[in-house]
Amino acid sequence: MSDILHNINTVQHKIRDAAIGCDRKPEDIRLVAVSKRFPHSDIIRGIEAGQKLFGENYIQEAAEKYDSLIQDGATPQLHFIGHLQSNKAKTATEIFSMVETVDRLKLARQLNKHLANLNKTLNILIQVNIGRDQNKSGVLPEDTEALLSAIKEENLEQLIVCGLMTIAPFTADPEDARPFFRDLKTLSLKLSGKELFANDDKIELSMGMSNDFHVAIQEGATLVRVGTAIFGQRPELNE
Ligand SMILES: *Cc1c(COP(=O)(O)O)cnc(C)c1O
Repeated sequence: MSDILHNINTVQHKIRDAAIGCDRKPEDIRLVAVSKRFPHSDIIRGIEAGQKLFGENYIQEAAEKYDSLIQDGATPQLHFIGHLQSNKAKTATEIFSMVETVDRLKLARQLNKHLANLNKTLNILIQVNIGRDQNKSGVLPEDTEALLSAIKEENLEQLIVCGLMTIAPFTADPEDARPFFRDLKTLSLKLSGKELFANDDKIELSMGMSNDFHVAIQEGATLVRVGTAIFGQRPELNE
């Protein structure tokens, strides 16, 4: 059994245990296997292990891997989870089934424009800088409603706004991340019922990574983004 297969099974078990432990349905939580900086052969291993959904952070890298995967006959579902520059929006619309990191109107407009040309729709999440971290992307919590309203008022009809995403500040103790996850859930509840999301009864919350996804599930995550616990330590960037 390959390590990746073993690791995916382990993570899926932990997701199930965390969900059942807080009276949630395991099938309401989807695992995004974060494959950034790992070769497309590792994604193939993941697919062979039954994993369908992968997360990538860099457009160029993702586009190259996507081409290799398609050539191999694989049809992975990819979520974009990195910082998206507006000039890369076109490529993003071509390869991702969801962009989790929309944090400004200009980017939403760019995505919508390219999608309209392709006659396609795209699932998106709004990235919220819940920890108010100056080094992180994301709209501030208090500005989130205005961004959602602007997307709605401008009729960016190719965008399906599914929910919110956040990257909690890194903490050694996963319990320290809990208040940030709770804040994102609270924000989603505050924004529900205003018809700002495609489905107010099912607002997606992408939060939790290798170290703390069990805590995120307890606080309401519907998407958890797990890299290291599946693929191992990431290769360093050679810069
Ligand atoms: C890299 C990354 C992850 C995965 O982190 P791990 O700690 O390796 O699980 C999740 N979310 C985002 C946005 C990332 O950039």
